[in-house]
Amino acid sequence: MESTSILHEIKVTPVTRSRVKEVDFTKLGFGKVFSDHMLVADYVNGQWQQPEIIPFQPISISPSNSTLHYGQAIFEGLKAYRTQQGDVVIFRPYDNFKRFNLSADRMDMPAVPEEIFIEGMKKLVDLDRAWVPGQPDSSLYIRPFMIAMDEYIGVRSSLRYRFMIITSPAGAYYNKPVKLYVQDKYVRAFPGGTGFAKTAGNYAASLKPTREVQEMGYDQILWTDGIHHRYLQECGTMNVFVVIGDTAITPDLTEGTILAGVTRSSVITLLHDEGIQVEERPISIDEVIRAHQEGQLKEIFGTGTAASISYVSELTYRDHHIVFDISQWKISPAILQKLNDIKVGKLPDRYGWNVRV
Ligand SMILES: *Cc1c(COP(=O)(O)O)cnc(C)c1O
Repeated sequence: MESTSILHEIKVTPVTRSRVKEVDFTKLGFGKVFSDHMLVADYVNGQWQQPEIIPFQPISISPSNSTLHYGQAIFEGLKAYRTQQGDVVIFRPYDNFKRFNLSADRMDMPAVPEEIFIEGMKKLVDLDRAWVPGQPDSSLYIRPFMIAMDEYIGVRSSLRYRFMIITSPAGAYYNKPVKLYVQDKYVRAFPGGTGFAKTAGNYAASLKPTREVQEMGYDQILWTDGIHHRYLQECGTMNVFVVIGDTAITPDLTEGTILAGVTRSSVITLLHDEGIQVEERPISIDEVIRAHQEGQLKEIFGTGTAASISYVSELTYRDHHIVFDISQWKISPAILQKLNDIKVGKLPDRYGWNVRV
């Protein structure tokens, strides 16, 4: 046990001069600016080596690196916030840790120990705490990921891996309503596939279908299932909720085709808190269209770490066009407010979601 803890002790090499003063925190956008440091841990000979925090910098890999060819690559996305009390907290990191290792298992990659994933993340965010923006609705986006490192172009699971964490300050997120196109030509996932894993190939395969609907004037695809092309799955990198009458319905996770969002889980908890009935079950596009025709379709929204909740302003399925008047919505705006307030300490954190750094 003792040797394990020494092995996982994190070595820190700080930057000689921080870049944080050079960054305009009022013009951040998303995903382009990276904080001073990154965490790196290698898996060699069946063992995780000592993790290190070093200055953010390019990494060198061989052209024969197997990730470049066969895509053994997984990632996570979560956020740290500056609370109104002045603390820095990470939102539900243990959930992302568990999901990361589920993705790792599906892609035949080694599990990352908690001492590296969680302790490494806390130490990294602590070192770069000056990078956690304080403006309302802004955050430090945290991107843990793992890639294969074998220099071998034979097709097999790699023997060596690299786990890294990089962080990126993210500006105030404008919850722009999204226009969805219900896709029944391409599929994102199917039972037995990799839909539940946050693995690179799922995103690569969605890029062309997404660009096609964007060229038609939509923002995202609302994916349907791979067998019947009928049951709702998710939209872009968000889970989907439909409010019919007084009930919030979201597709269940039992087929393994849907990414189990941490925001999805938080929203289900908060809906229950508000006394709103939640159903996790298969929901078909026909049911949504029928509810609309009967005047019972109240709200549709997506949930994910990037925007927390995105309202759906339009939905198109074949020759059905549904346009929503979001100003009339009650449920999702209330949940969004509550979720955001918990993250920044304006509401009590009754579920222990915020992990202090
Ligand atoms: C990351 C992701 C989500 C949302 O998950 P959160 O944990 O809420 O950020 C939903 N769908 C897909 C495909 C995703 O990659």
